[in-house]
Amino acid sequence: MPYVITEACIGVKDAACVDVCPVDCIHPTPAEAGFAAIDQLYIDPLSCIDCGACQVVCPVSAIFPEDEVPAHLTPYIEKNRVYYEQGSNTA
Ligand code: SF4
Repeated sequence: MPYVITEACIGVKDAACVDVCPVDCIHPTPAEAGFAAIDQLYIDPLSCIDCGACQVVCPVSAIFPEDEVPAHLTPYIEKNRVYYEQGSNTA
């Protein structure tokens, strides 16, 4: 059950999560070309190992395990998945 980045990340993009993710599955990173143009960061659901490290460090509590995403934020489950399906991950 992967973790999901939700609405609170929009416009914040703190990226503390990027630094702690052990499998580098959160993109775009501040070092990647797409970072400035994108609203929020996304977690690759196929690479996430469900460690929870990102959730702990997020300053705006934007990250949830998929099965704990609040009901009004469930569209973000799809948004995270689609970001990687579209090949937007530049890593
Ligand atoms: Fe990375 Fe762990 Fe967060 Fe998954 S739960 S995105 S592996 S830090």
